Amino acid sequence: MDLIKKLSGILVALLILTGCSSETADEGTDEPLKITSTFSIMTDMVEAIGGEHVEVYNLVPLGTDPHEYDPKPEDIQFLTDSDALFYNGLNLEGENGGWLDKLVSSVDYDEDKIFRATDDVEPMYLAEGTADEEINPHSFIDPNVGIKMAEAVKSALIELDEENSEYYKERGEDYINELKEIENDYRQTFEDIPDDRRILIASEFAFQYLTEQYNIQEGYIWAIDTEENGSPQQIKDATDFVKKHQPPVLFVESNVDRRPMEAVSKESGVPIYDKPLYSDEIGNQDSEASTYLDYLRYNLNVLSDGMNQ
Ligand SMILES: [Zn+2]
Repeated sequence: MDLIKKLSGILVALLILTGCSSETADEGTDEPLKITSTFSIMTDMVEAIGGEHVEVYNLVPLGTDPHEYDPKPEDIQFLTDSDALFYNGLNLEGENGGWLDKLVSSVDYDEDKIFRATDDVEPMYLAEGTADEEINPHSFIDPNVGIKMAEAVKSALIELDEENSEYYKERGEDYINELKEIENDYRQTFEDIPDDRRILIASEFAFQYLTEQYNIQEGYIWAIDTEENGSPQQIKDATDFVKKHQPPVLFVESNVDRRPMEAVSKESGVPIYDKPLYSDEIGNQDSEASTYLDYLRYNLNVLSDGMNQ
C-alpha cells in the first residue's frame, strides 16, 4: 500500500469517527444510564459513584422491610425500561423465590444486566433461631463490606458505560478512599473500648458482620425481622444475655418496634441508649444518616458513645 492511499484511508476513518460522534451526540448518548436499585443503601452508593451519568430508581422505600417487599406497577415499568438492575444479594431481597426473583422473572429481565454487589463477600449465617442455615443479609453494616460493594458498583458501571469509564473510576476511587478512612476509624475506636464494654445488644441479629470483624460480643432479641419479633421466650433469653454480660447500654434500631427492647431494659435494669442505630436502611434526607457514608459514621458514634457510658 502506498503512503497516499494509507493516509487517505486514515483520513476517511477520521471523518467517519468525527461524523459518528457528533451524530450520536445529537441523538443524546449523554443520557444517563437508567438503573433500578433494590434498597436505600444500594441506591445511595450507585448515585454516589455514578454521579451525573446515572438515574437511579429505588425499589424498597424507606420504612419498608427490604426482606419482604411487594413491587408496585411503576416498579415493574421502571425495571422494564432500565439499563441495569443492582441488588445486594446475600438473602436481603429474599433470594431464591423471593420478591426480587419474582419481579425479575415477571418481566423476563435480561440476566446480563443484573449486578449483585456482594459477590466478593463471605456470607455469615443466622445459626440460632431459624429452622435452617439462613444467610444473614446485613453485611453492609460492616465498612469492610461497603468497600467490596463499592468496588463492585464501580466495575459494573464501567462495564455498562465504557465511554465514561474514567469518570466512574475517579468517583469510585474517591468513594472507596472515604470508606477506608471510615473503616480505620472503626478499627481504632473499637480497639480503644475495653472488652467488658464492647457489647452490642440490639433487637435483630443484624450486626454479625460488624461484631465478628471488630471482636464485639453480640446479643439480640430475634434473629431476623421476617420471623417472630419479641416473643416472651425471646425477651427472656435476651434479658439473660444482658444480665450475664452487663453491657453499659442496650441499643435499638431506627426501624423496629421498641417495645420488646423496653421490656428487656425493664427486666434487666440496663437503659436503652437514647439514639437509635441504623441497620436495614439509611435515614431520611433530614437525618444524620442520610447517605451510606454518614450512616456508617453515625452508627460508629452511637456505638462508641453508648459503650463508653
Ligand atoms: Zn434486617
